Amino acid sequence: MDLSIVIPVFNEDSNIYLLYNRTAKALNTLAIDYELIFVNDGSKDNSLSILEQLAKEDARVKYIDFSRNFGHQIAVSAGLEHAAGNRIAIIDADLQDPPELLVDMYKKMDDNFQVVYARRRSRKGESFLKKLTAKLFYRLLSSITNIDIPLDTGDFRMIDRKVLLVLNQMPEQEKFLRGQISWIGFNQTSVDYDRDERNGGKTGYTYKKMFQFALNGITSFSDFPLRFASIMGFAVSGIAFLIMLYTLYSKFILKDVIQGWTSIMLSVMFIGGIQLICLGIIGEYIKRISTNIKKRPLYVINKTNI
Ligand code: UDP
Ligand code: MG
Repeated sequence: MDLSIVIPVFNEDSNIYLLYNRTAKALNTLAIDYELIFVNDGSKDNSLSILEQLAKEDARVKYIDFSRNFGHQIAVSAGLEHAAGNRIAIIDADLQDPPELLVDMYKKMDDNFQVVYARRRSRKGESFLKKLTAKLFYRLLSSITNIDIPLDTGDFRMIDRKVLLVLNQMPEQEKFLRGQISWIGFNQTSVDYDRDERNGGKTGYTYKKMFQFALNGITSFSDFPLRFASIMGFAVSGIAFLIMLYTLYSKFILKDVIQGWTSIMLSVMFIGGIQLICLGIIGEYIKRISTNIKKRPLYVINKTNI
């Protein structure tokens, strides 16, 4: 098997046939052996019966039907676990990602790349708010993480089996695949494309799901929010110390303070600073716990002669 294409499906009955046809037509130019793995993520429409019908007509069509909606990242992960190909592509079912690009990705992989991700030059038919929040989120994430997660990309990409095997080993429950694939490394490159409008149906990504996804991205790939308490603790304590000096100065040098002000200020500042520093220390330990429960492999080897 040369190529597996993983397609998460949530209420996409108006798009599956067209996606299937366009993909088959594009891949015919490559003369390769491929499979389409559709993961039906608890669709409430006719997606499943269409997939069953397609699978009857074409043995290259496989499907996995979930018992309920588990979410896009989990659907993709299930497809990845069942992929048999030497190369694996992830593509949306709504034709926002043009299947024709798979051909370019496939060819690019021949130049010794293990990951080819598709970068959005433009995105059509998406609300201003969605584009703005996505833009801000990816820039925020890249500023607080040490991993090089490419901007303006989704999960539309092709990966080598080497990368897949590592990805399938990463046992984290909260998936953020585009970050995980960046974390794995190897030679990664991009192809640019214009993201189309959704062909039919409507988006399955509610703002609630997007928020959850963004939170997963940040907590899986950045310790900054935890470290923030430490930084604040030291900053506030520093300022508190200056204020403490000032209250003592007012009391003993200026001698124009109301009775009791100095002692109240001193204790508030002192205790406030201590509390923030303690929170920071707890944060540092939680950071270690959170790193460890991710149970990621410590490293990924490309080549060795051992
Ligand atoms: N999807 C899914 N489960 C969900 C939501 C979406 O499998 O809970 C699929 C959906 O069918 C599509 C892909 O994930 O193939 C991207 O979703 P969508 O197009 O709704 O998101 P958007 O492009 O609007 O961000
Ligand atoms: Mg879409």
